[in-house]
Amino acid sequence: MTAKFQVVVLGAGFGGLEVARTLSETLGEDVQTTVVDRGDAFVFGFSKLDVMFGHTDADRVRLPYTDVTGPGLQMLRAEVLAIDPQRRTVTLDSGELTADVLVVALGADLDPAATPGLVEAGHEFYSVPGAEAARDALENFNGGRVLIAVTSSPFKCPPAPSETALLTHDFLTARGLRAASSIDLLMPLPTPVPPAPEASEAILAAFAEREIGWHPNHLVRHVDPAARAVVLEDGSQRGFDLLLAVPAHRPPQVVVDAGLTEDGWIPVDPRTLRTRFPGVFAVGDVTSAGTPKAGAFAEGQGRTVAEQIIAQVHGGASTDAYGGHGACLMEFGGGQVARVEVTFAPGERPYGRMVPPSLENAEEKQTAGTNRARRWFGRDWQPVPSR
Ligand SMILES: Cc1cc2nc3c(=O)[nH]c(=O)nc-3n(C[C@H](O)[C@H](O)[C@H](O)COP(=O)(O)OP(=O)(O)OC[C@H]3O[C@@H](n4cnc5c(N)ncnc54)[C@H](O)[C@@H]3O)c2cc1C
Repeated sequence: MTAKFQVVVLGAGFGGLEVARTLSETLGEDVQTTVVDRGDAFVFGFSKLDVMFGHTDADRVRLPYTDVTGPGLQMLRAEVLAIDPQRRTVTLDSGELTADVLVVALGADLDPAATPGLVEAGHEFYSVPGAEAARDALENFNGGRVLIAVTSSPFKCPPAPSETALLTHDFLTARGLRAASSIDLLMPLPTPVPPAPEASEAILAAFAEREIGWHPNHLVRHVDPAARAVVLEDGSQRGFDLLLAVPAHRPPQVVVDAGLTEDGWIPVDPRTLRTRFPGVFAVGDVTSAGTPKAGAFAEGQGRTVAEQIIAQVHGGASTDAYGGHGACLMEFGGGQVARVEVTFAPGERPYGRMVPPSLENAEEKQTAGTNRARRWFGRDWQPVPSR
């Protein structure tokens, strides 16, 4: 009896889960897919905003990895300690795995401590504990200067800080604190969504209507806790009473130590997601594939990788190439959601469009989450009790 074809997927986020589910659905028991993650549950990025603004709580948005089951599919809770991309061998805290095909989908690590003063004086909202602490800070806020800022680039989900500004406006308005508060957004980008001018215009119009200050091309270098001010790249300062910050992003140390990265992230062929090591793919935020760091892209890349593995197992070659399409269902406030579609096709200028904010799009966003929960975790999911 020949040994089963072994696929090892490192990381159970958007990218890793999509690879694993597609392989299990298509190849069943013909292939053994082992997915490794240190965590016990998955949380959608957008759920962190729901937690921060008190729309739901963290327990409700967790999708436990014990629900990831299927033919030929095994979920393993372990820390990845080392990767040997030449041998396709992975060292875990619980043993060693060797793969015929290895998929690295370990995402981007968050490092709030890399920005001096941030942990002492501000709140990052990109992790679940960070979003919970930011929720408490918002609950205790009595009005004043709210600053939403970014501390490194690239960062996950470029529309998220703009969504945060619009949702902060709603939050303060509902508590009768808006008149006593200012909201300012500092972004390292020239426009809110650079590849989609129509979306950027609509977001800037929404900011103007709500008197949210927009400050493009601004990156925070450090925070001065004594002065309660952020210090920007050019040395200038801006004061705050409440700082909501996107923390610094960095590649997981284990992929750097493995020699997989160049200039920070893992370079891949943007059409196939192959790394320079035979039989080793990388998808999602851990790569420099040329797409934004967002779940929609990680998921699409995961599907492309799965198609190539399926073709290999069937003894052929996949002709599917990754197209760089992604859609973000962006919160606009007032329960309305816009659909921002962008395409980062390899070798082409990125472009995009927007379906204007509506309550129908808000429903589509709920459905997109519940559909993924059903597909990846085989369960029904109602993350937000009522909107
Ligand atoms: C506030 C916020 C809002 C967002 N909104 C959206 C949105 O509306 N739409 C959208 O498309 N994207 C959104 N995103 C971005 C999205 O969440 C990420 O881009 C996406 O999760 C990336 O998927 P990934 O598979 O590359 O990595 P991840 O989903 O980050 O998964 C990586 C996994 O690897 C595991 N891991 C890492 N290192 C190790 C190790 N050494 N050992 C074991 N396991 C390890 C981690 O535990 C993690 O589960 C948002 C993000 C945030 C923070």
